[in-house]
This record gives sequence, structure tokens and C-alpha cells, in this order.
Amino acid sequence: MNKVFSNKPIWIAGIVMGLIGLILVLTYWFYFRDSFIVKNSDDNIDAKLTITPTVSETATSIPSITQIIVTIPPKADMYNTADFINFPISKQQSIGEFAPNDLIILPSLYSTKTIRVSNLIKDDLIKLIDAAKTDGITLKVVSGYRSFGEQKVLFNNYVSNERKSNSSLSEAELEAKANTYSAKPGHSEHQLGTTVDISSSEVNYQLISDENAKYAKWLEENASKYNFTISFEKNNPEYIYEPWHLRWRG
Ligand SMILES: [Zn+2]
Repeated sequence: MNKVFSNKPIWIAGIVMGLIGLILVLTYWFYFRDSFIVKNSDDNIDAKLTITPTVSETATSIPSITQIIVTIPPKADMYNTADFINFPISKQQSIGEFAPNDLIILPSLYSTKTIRVSNLIKDDLIKLIDAAKTDGITLKVVSGYRSFGEQKVLFNNYVSNERKSNSSLSEAELEAKANTYSAKPGHSEHQLGTTVDISSSEVNYQLISDENAKYAKWLEENASKYNFTISFEKNNPEYIYEPWHLRWRG
């Protein structure tokens, strides 16, 4: 007893040092705990972790915290648009999740809404529309860049519309029907950023497949002067005649 009492300064020092150590550990955890938690990175979002409280359907159990893994498609890489000017795209040939690296918004004078296109085509496009104006034809761009994701939504909408009027058809048959007038995601030239749909005040900026329309004739005769081609000519094997659909070829 006497001996323990005589060692009192030593065990008091031990307790004090233990407390200091504990405070140091807690301080370290408080300031650096974030680095122990795995976070999503904007540069590499393969999966998003969401913590959502859920309540059991039967409501007999205590609400629990459930982890739900939401899978997000890998972020599409940005490509050099110039390398894909003449890339072949068709119903058979996809461009995958290509995304151009040089999109700009067209001046509102030249478009019916906010439209993005590759910077590569801007000058020729403006020259073409100005030249038509000189010839008495008012043209505007009605559609430009369409992302892989936008095409996916569009195509799925067309498929569900077809399903309403053709309930006996299989999913593959419905997709084939929609594919006669709409490209599957990754199969549209609009994904390049170098392709536009152009229409005229003459047809109220609708997409009219009429070879006798003045604007269609003008584009047939003049588009190539500004490095554009009409991708879907009369009797092409892919789609209906699309006098409005112009792809820039550099
Ligand atoms: Zn088009």
C-alpha cells in the first residue's frame, strides 16, 4: 500500500498521457474522417452510392437505412470532332457514345430554338443560310447535335408509340418499325455535331419530304457549295427522302 502510494506521480502521469493520446486520436478522426469515406469522382462516375431511408411496405418493422447502388453508364469520352467528319454511320454502323469536343450554340437568327453544332460547320452553315436568303428562301436550322442519351429517349418514345397501335408485335418488330424513321442511339449522324436539319418558312419549319418544295430544290442545288451533302436522297436504302438532313463533309 505504502509502495503504491509512493508511485502516485507515475500513475497520475500515465493517466494524463493516456487522456492526451485519446484526445489526439479523436481530433485526428474528426479532421480526417472524410478521407476514410470513399467518394464519387466527377471524372469517373461508374456507380453512384445513395443512402435512402426506406419504410417497409407492411409497416410492421422499424424503418431501416438501406444502401441502393444506382448504376450510371460510364461518362462518354470527348472526341476530336475533326477526326470523325467522314466516319461512316448507318443502321449497321454505330458511333457508340461519341461526343464532340467543340460544340457551340448557333446564333438565334439562324435557328428556331437553342441548337448546338460543331464549331467546324458554323461558317459554312451561316454562308448557306445567307445565300438562300439572297435567293428569296428563308431557311433556319431546326435540329443539330443530338447526344447518345437524347437519341435513346427519342427512340424509346417512338417504340412505345408503336406499341400503342401494334400491341401484337414483338419488341424486336416494334423497334424495327420505329427504325424506319428514327435512328437507334449511336446510329444517328446528328451525334457527330456536324449534321443539321434545315427547313424553311415556306413549310412553317416542318420537316416535309417533298421534292417539289422550293427549299428542297434549293438545297439539292446549293448545299454542296457549302460542303454539305444530303445524306438521305430519294430512294436511299436507309430512310425516307430527307431533303432537310445535311451532313457537313469539310
Ligand atoms: Zn436529321
